[in-house]
Amino acid sequence: MTMNSVGRPTRSETFDPAAPATLTGARGLLQDEALIFELDGWRKTGVDLPDAPPADDLAGLTRDAPIGLPGLSEPETMRHYVRLSQKNHAIDLALYPLGSCTMKHNPRLNEKMARLPGFADLHPLQPQSTTQGALALMDRLAHWLKTLTGMPAVALSPKAGAHGELCGLLAIRAAHEAKGAARKTVLVPTSAHGTNPATAAFVGYGVVEIAQTADGRVDLADLEAKLTPDVAAIMVTNPNTCGLFERDVIEIARLAHSVGAYFYCDGANFNAIVGRVRPGDLGVDAMHINLHKTFSTPHGGGGPGAGPVVLSEALAPYAPTPWLVHSDGGFHLQEQPEAEAAHAFGRMCAFHGQMGMYVRAYAYMRSHGADGLRQVAEDAVLNANYIKARLSDVMTPAFPDGPCMHEALFDDAWLEGTGVTTLDFAKAMIDEGFHPMTMYFPLVVHGAMLIEPTETESKQELDRFIHAVRLLAAAAKAGDVERFKAAPTQAPLSRLDETLAARKPRLRWTSPVALPPLETFA
Ligand SMILES: *Cc1c(COP(=O)(O)O)cnc(C)c1O
Repeated sequence: MTMNSVGRPTRSETFDPAAPATLTGARGLLQDEALIFELDGWRKTGVDLPDAPPADDLAGLTRDAPIGLPGLSEPETMRHYVRLSQKNHAIDLALYPLGSCTMKHNPRLNEKMARLPGFADLHPLQPQSTTQGALALMDRLAHWLKTLTGMPAVALSPKAGAHGELCGLLAIRAAHEAKGAARKTVLVPTSAHGTNPATAAFVGYGVVEIAQTADGRVDLADLEAKLTPDVAAIMVTNPNTCGLFERDVIEIARLAHSVGAYFYCDGANFNAIVGRVRPGDLGVDAMHINLHKTFSTPHGGGGPGAGPVVLSEALAPYAPTPWLVHSDGGFHLQEQPEAEAAHAFGRMCAFHGQMGMYVRAYAYMRSHGADGLRQVAEDAVLNANYIKARLSDVMTPAFPDGPCMHEALFDDAWLEGTGVTTLDFAKAMIDEGFHPMTMYFPLVVHGAMLIEPTETESKQELDRFIHAVRLLAAAAKAGDVERFKAAPTQAPLSRLDETLAARKPRLRWTSPVALPPLETFA
């Protein structure tokens, strides 16, 4: 392991010493960068602040040690963050093929709209008479979400897909409780995204798995056998995480309703059907929509996202506050569980949700129009099928028969005997300038590699990606195992111990250098 000047490891232990190294740790035009606290900026400051007034009233709590904030100048600060940003992949650099994530281009028009001062400078506690424009935008967004899904109600406030799942299941629990019948379990297919069973468990339900058929869909016979009067809901993703449309979705809804259960549809893959299929027509009772997937708002560093939940007539009364209602004086936010919101189950967050994401999503919808949104789905599916068609002779598609929806799923059968694993292959993609596809998910497919290109990739960009994957596939089959085992050699860090990082995260940073005494700053 090598260390930088303040003792921070700059290369993992598995770093391949045979890979080309530089004297400084820089790579090409990319300089190595320490943490901001390690940049030795203690004696500097980027801003001039007036002297603090004498602090007589702090009851002896005045600071007697340096606060320890780095004090970089403006150009140093800029460079620090730009260098850090270069250590990571971004949708603005290249295709981001993560399946089940819908990583698409974020149109700059959306950013421009979100920065309009009338939206960007709002305070959530401002009097509602001064926020009528923002409330009108929320109302228009709600209208589009309801129209596109064919559902009568929407709760805008959940802050991510998983938060939307929680919102939907809390509404379902409230509806069962209102009927005086608490139920115990939620049915989830084996291919489900991990958030589905996690949400059900969090709400207090037992999770029962539904089997999958050989062609990657919900096994109806198994579903029927497990649909007892104790089942509160089924959670089904459509199109599912194998990238396939659930052909029997109407029958699935009918079966669920026949035992008094609700149908929660995970709408994370709505990108594949927006403008073409209305989930309300399929019998769905609740479905979250990831604005940061389908409607192109950024997925940045874990947030902010937005996961509005559309609700059926049966669940609408239990939607969380705030409710946006039309009143004589314009729009009004009903914050308390009373009046029209008397049956609201509670609230999902302190204020009203992610305003900036609402503006971006609405700008996206308006700039595409109804016909443009339909084309989004068509092009997303076309692009995924192009990838499937162009890679199926070198890799093994998990479900070779028929077209896929928005993502192409491969298994690792084609790597058998090469000594290269799905993980090795994904790591080698980093060296070729691509973020890896989703690996080992869904769990029902061995060594899964799930590729979702989205509609925002041109044929040229798709061909560039396909070219890289084909070259790597040929290298794997030609026995160039070393390349794969050493990869990535071009990234700032090579393979990390991800298990250790997950099991024993080091959440506290301690300075490797002693802070200078307070007098130094006088
Ligand atoms: C992304 C995703 C989720 C979770 O959404 P977040 O916004 O990341 O919380 C749930 N289900 C599926 C199928 C997804 O792809």
